[in-house]
Amino acid sequence: MKKKLFIVFILSLFASNTQAQLAGSFCGTHSFSEVWENEIQRLILETKNLQKNKNQTENNYVIPVVFHVIHGGESVGTFPNILEGQIQSQMTILNQDFSGNAYNASNYPPNAFVNWAVNQNIAGLNLDQNGRIKIADFNIQFCLATKDTSGQLLPEPGIHRVNYLSLGIPNPSTYTTQSTMKAYLDNTLKPQTIWDVRKYLNVWITDKNTALTYSGVSSGPPFSGLMDLPNNATEFTDGIWCYTKVVGSNSLFPSGSYLSPMIDGRILTHEAGHYVGLRHIWGDQDCGNDFCNDTPPAAGQNSGAPTYPHEAGSCASPSNNPDGEMFMNFMDYTRGPSVYMFTTDQRTRAQTAMLNSPFRNQLGTHGLCSETTGLIKETIKNTLSVYPNPAKNHLNLDVSETEPKEILIIDLFGQVLIATKNTHVVDISCLAQGIYFVSVSTGQQTYAQTFIKE
Ligand SMILES: [Zn+2]
Repeated sequence: MKKKLFIVFILSLFASNTQAQLAGSFCGTHSFSEVWENEIQRLILETKNLQKNKNQTENNYVIPVVFHVIHGGESVGTFPNILEGQIQSQMTILNQDFSGNAYNASNYPPNAFVNWAVNQNIAGLNLDQNGRIKIADFNIQFCLATKDTSGQLLPEPGIHRVNYLSLGIPNPSTYTTQSTMKAYLDNTLKPQTIWDVRKYLNVWITDKNTALTYSGVSSGPPFSGLMDLPNNATEFTDGIWCYTKVVGSNSLFPSGSYLSPMIDGRILTHEAGHYVGLRHIWGDQDCGNDFCNDTPPAAGQNSGAPTYPHEAGSCASPSNNPDGEMFMNFMDYTRGPSVYMFTTDQRTRAQTAMLNSPFRNQLGTHGLCSETTGLIKETIKNTLSVYPNPAKNHLNLDVSETEPKEILIIDLFGQVLIATKNTHVVDISCLAQGIYFVSVSTGQQTYAQTFIKE
C-alpha cells in the first residue's frame, strides 16, 4: 500500500512539472507530501475536538506582510520598482478574497453545486442558504507591516525596496527554468533579504525571464517534528515569490505595471492559499484528492474563463455529476476574473495551519499591524451588524442591546478616515472603493468589522 502511494506521489510530482509548462499554468508550488498530509489531517481532528470540548470557535488572524520589491536601481514607479499603490491594491484583493467578499463573487451561479452537494451528502455547515457550496470567510486578513525587523517605522508600510546590485547578486531575470529560479530564490535572494518568518509573511516580487512559464510559488506551512521534510520551508526560505507584473489590481490601481491577463491580483491569493496549507483543486493528478470534501473532484487544472456547469462527469469516483468542476475556486488555474471563492473545508485546513504551524501560529501577535487594525482581533461576531455590505453611500450599524457611541472608519493601513458619534448610519460616499474596518465603541466595549465600499 505504502509502495503504491509512493509511486503515485512520484508520478504526481512528474505530472505537476509537466503541467507547469502548459499555457495557463502560473504556479510552481510543490505538491505536499503524504507524511505532511497525514499530519495536517491529525491536527484537523485534534483542533475540531478541542473546539468541541471547550465550545470554542475558530480564531481571527491578521497577518503582517512585507513585500520585498527587488529592482536594479530603477526609480520608484518604474518597473520592477513599482509604486506603493499597486501593492496596496493587491492587499485589498487579498483581504476581500480571504473574507468571502471577492469583488466578483456575485457571479456565483444561483444553483452552483446544489445537486452535487445533495448527491454527495455534503454537511449543512458547508452550504449556504440556497444549498450551494458556501463561499467561506477564512477569518484571516492581511495588513501591510508598519515596522521593520528592528522596530523602526517603515516609510512605506509593508514595503522593503532592495537593489539586487547592491547585494552583489545576479538579476532574477537571468534564470530560464523553474529549477534554476528556485535555486536562486532559495539559496541566494531569500536568505539575504528575509524577515523573521514567525512575524511576517515575506513576499518577494521580482522581474523574471520570459522563458519562465510560472509567475508564483509559495512554501507550505511546516509542522513541528516534520521540519526536515524535502521541499519544506525554512527560516531562510519561507514565503511567497511572485512576478512583479502579476501583483495588484488593474481596476483598483490602473497606473501600475501589469501582465495581461493576470491583472486581478489572484495569483497572490492562490499562493497565499498554499501558504496556509491548501492544495490545487484537482489534487495535482487526474481526479486527485485535495482533501476537501466540499470541492468536487476535477480531472485536471482549468484555465481561461469556463462557464458553469463545466466538465460534468469528468470524475467518476467520487463523481462530480451533475455540476462538474469548481473552476471558480482560487486553487484552480482559471483566469482571475473567473475565480472568487474558497470553501469551508479549505478554511478548516487554513485555520489548522494557522493554529499549529510554528511558522504561522505567532503571526499577528507582535504589534506589526497598526494598533487600530489590531482591533479586529476583538471582534465578537453577531453582536455588531454592518449592512449593506458591500455598501455604496450609507453604512448602517446595529449593536445588539445597546447604542453605538464612537464610530471610526479605518483603512487597511490604520488611518482613521471618518470619525463620528451617536448614530446608526454613516455617510461613506466620500470613500474610495476598497475594504475598510468599522470600529464601534459603546462605552463598555469596542467592536470591529470589515466592509467593502463599492
Ligand atoms: Zn498553486
